[in-house]
Amino acid sequence: MSEQHQSTRKCGYCLTERHWTWTGERLRDGSKIFVDDLQRRWAGKRCPICERRRVQATIECPSFEKFHVTKALAEAGYEVRNQTPPLQAHRDGVAYPVVIRHATLEQGKVVLESPLPEAEDQVCVLVFQSVRVVPAKQMSNLRLKETATSSMIDAPPVV
Ligand SMILES: [Zn+2]
Repeated sequence: MSEQHQSTRKCGYCLTERHWTWTGERLRDGSKIFVDDLQRRWAGKRCPICERRRVQATIECPSFEKFHVTKALAEAGYEVRNQTPPLQAHRDGVAYPVVIRHATLEQGKVVLESPLPEAEDQVCVLVFQSVRVVPAKQMSNLRLKETATSSMIDAPPVV
């Protein structure tokens, strides 16, 4: 069976049958480049839509943040087994999709950067953003603690 003559393929992730056309080009490693009807690229068995979702989730969850999210979930009794976003939290034999939202506190109220999805079978993690200005002369007073995974500094005094 020749790949070139197939026009659709079932995505290995969302299991949806989608357009799958060889562009005639190859990647540097020799693998063929397949696109859908809108010229969006397939990533192996992952369809362009799933690939876009994966990339988006990666952008939304950088490794530093992922470390803290995983740690917070463990403290709440969940186990995160996958290392690539979107994360899944396991508890009592059930896997829940992890929804991460950046949040800020404004006048005592939690404000989310974007609304949460409607689904109920998910675990929501809020990552609070705060910004502090530390004058250079105060930086020299901060103690730097090295840990296995990150560098932490003591919270600077509020100016
Ligand atoms: Zn897909």
